[in-house]
Amino acid sequence: MALQLKRRTLFAAGAGALAAPGLLAGAASAQETTDKDGMGKNADFRTLKLGSFRVSVISDGTRAADNPHEIFGTNQPAESVSKLLEQNFLPTSSFVNGFSPVLVDTGPEVVLFDTGLGEGGREAGTGKLAEGLKAAGYAPEQVTVVVITHMHGDHIGGLMEGGKPAFANARYVTGQVEYDFWKDGARVGTPAETGHKAVLAKVVPLAEKMTFVADGGEVVPGISAMAAFGHSPGHMIYRLESDGKAMILTADTANHYVLSLQRPDWEVRFDMDKPAASASRKKVFDMIATDRLPFIGYHMPFPSVGFVESQDQGYRFVPASYQFDI
Ligand SMILES: [Zn+2]
Repeated sequence: MALQLKRRTLFAAGAGALAAPGLLAGAASAQETTDKDGMGKNADFRTLKLGSFRVSVISDGTRAADNPHEIFGTNQPAESVSKLLEQNFLPTSSFVNGFSPVLVDTGPEVVLFDTGLGEGGREAGTGKLAEGLKAAGYAPEQVTVVVITHMHGDHIGGLMEGGKPAFANARYVTGQVEYDFWKDGARVGTPAETGHKAVLAKVVPLAEKMTFVADGGEVVPGISAMAAFGHSPGHMIYRLESDGKAMILTADTANHYVLSLQRPDWEVRFDMDKPAASASRKKVFDMIATDRLPFIGYHMPFPSVGFVESQDQGYRFVPASYQFDI
């Protein structure tokens, strides 16, 4: 009851007024709290408690596409891909991909991991991060650090808004290998040219406020980087740890909760170095399975948080339920 009242106050108060993180109790979802003014109707977020950290998964939106086999399991017969989808009660002709930036409120710092598709995605119904942040109780100005896991368009698209930095008071953290690859003029005339141009438009203007983190490096106390190269040349993932509780943000280590996790060896079109991506997948999810850690995957089904159990050939995704509510 108390939670509901607080939420109502929160939604009624409007975005600007609600700065205080911690106003929401351990878990909340915007979908269940659409108030009469309609605020939050299009926003979707889920807040989890991790030790003394408050972790909010924000939906930037979803996108449907045809022919999963053209993206996942590209080195496999189409029938094998269809069969695995069917076994998992999923359609074979199309699939839905979601985008889930994560905001970690450590108390002293408000750290945002990735920024969604931004203004470029709005027409197609994505680019909803700002709306979701507002619903979760945060203004963009409160973000103190923006971490970019890697520089594909669905992760950097929301860095700039109307030609200005979307997070006015933030500094930026990313991997050096990733930045150097995309910034390099040598990408012109290659398949990475579009990505190169996007980085010039969205990332390079922020370079003055950017620092680089390497494998094992710390972003802020309780948040450290791990190299998981392959999906992109310098793709990094992050470990959160607070009061003895840990969680991994796996970014794009696995991009489909069935096809990439149950068959980590299957090639994925978006993985730029396919053998390295597959090796990273197995390394990261072996660790997550062995240590029974929760993880948030940027493209896992919203709210994108769960666990994995090792199977013969890969891992079974176990979505979280109430583990973070108590
Ligand atoms: Zn992605």
